[in-house]
Amino acid sequence: MKICVLPGDGIGPEIIAEAVRVLQALAIGCEMEEGLLGGCAVDATGDPYPPATQALAQQADAVLLGAVGGPQWDNLPRAQRPERGLLGIRQQLGLFANLRPAILYPELANASSLKAEVVAGLDILIVRELTGDIYFGQPRGIEMRVVDGRQERFAFNTMHYSESEIRRIVRVAFEAARKRNRKLCSVDKMNVLETTQLWRDVANETAVEYPDVDLSHMLVDNAAMQLVRNPSQFDVLVTGNLFGDILSDEAAMLTGSIGMLPSASLDANNKGLYEPCHGSAPDIAGRGLANPLATILSAAMMLRYTFAQESAALRIENAVRKVLQQGYRTADIYEPGMQKVGTRAMGDAVLAAL
Ligand code: NAD
Repeated sequence: MKICVLPGDGIGPEIIAEAVRVLQALAIGCEMEEGLLGGCAVDATGDPYPPATQALAQQADAVLLGAVGGPQWDNLPRAQRPERGLLGIRQQLGLFANLRPAILYPELANASSLKAEVVAGLDILIVRELTGDIYFGQPRGIEMRVVDGRQERFAFNTMHYSESEIRRIVRVAFEAARKRNRKLCSVDKMNVLETTQLWRDVANETAVEYPDVDLSHMLVDNAAMQLVRNPSQFDVLVTGNLFGDILSDEAAMLTGSIGMLPSASLDANNKGLYEPCHGSAPDIAGRGLANPLATILSAAMMLRYTFAQESAALRIENAVRKVLQQGYRTADIYEPGMQKVGTRAMGDAVLAAL
């Protein structure tokens, strides 16, 4: 189990340190090596994704990432921006499947903007295609065209998917559903877009390989509505890059707490990059205030999806549930009456619970 650890910028090093301690405490033989990505790599080498980090990431079985970016790098040319490092590593490793669970821990029910009875028991997984769709269509641009007899600016993007691109992401979703409640909802806009008619056809064809999983379909506008009306009706959702971008943020925020949300991005062989959904939080960096739980839960996803260590993943997730039950809260999820702790003390509590 070779893990490339990339703490990154801002709160990255603080939250990664806690996830690394958790992995070490499990004593299951993880080999970890650290590298530079993002702003810290720009400062050290001039390159947000330097060759040494590329070699480390390519040789590893999985990558554990903190977060990148910060105001000190905002004025650099585009190619040197920390975010370029993130795009570079995703692209180089061929990470086409983005998995984002949204779980409402009962202890944090008040953090959700929805009524407690609507979000009670929420535990869904959004599987988003990450390397195709309208974001990667050609040609695209803004140009002058004649419209209704006069010149004006005209912009265009092209939505496209191939059968194989759809099949591989739908398979990832079926496999994930198999490890959960065996319900998969595929989200499209097949009443208007041919691209998503193909999406629906391929999903139906792939379903034959998974007779134990119940496949349904939903139009994206309805899915957006159902996610806030009755989110618990879903188990696993699978969708394209554009719809997934929007729906995964919507689903994530049902839980109300950005410091709690892990994510995985996988390639065709379950190699993956695991990171919290939040950014580098420059406003609280270096002060020991950040919530490390999203990163610790990302490490649990790594054990589940890349290393097939389900019981170790569950041990971490149960430890996180336990510290919440015990009342430990970092500032972002604090409520009066709870025990306010910093990053290191939260890590200590998870280790004690393990
Ligand atoms: P952010 O997620 O970093 O912060 C938003 C707010 O949430 C801030 O108030 C922050 O303090 C808080 N927050 C975030 N994570 C937290 C945690 N673990 N514990 C407690 N509070 C937490 O988003 P932003 O402020 O828009 O972006 C800051 C920088 O991060 C930018 O440079 C941006 O480009 C970068 N960014 C990186 C990633 C990534 O690395 N994947 C993702 C998003 C943003």
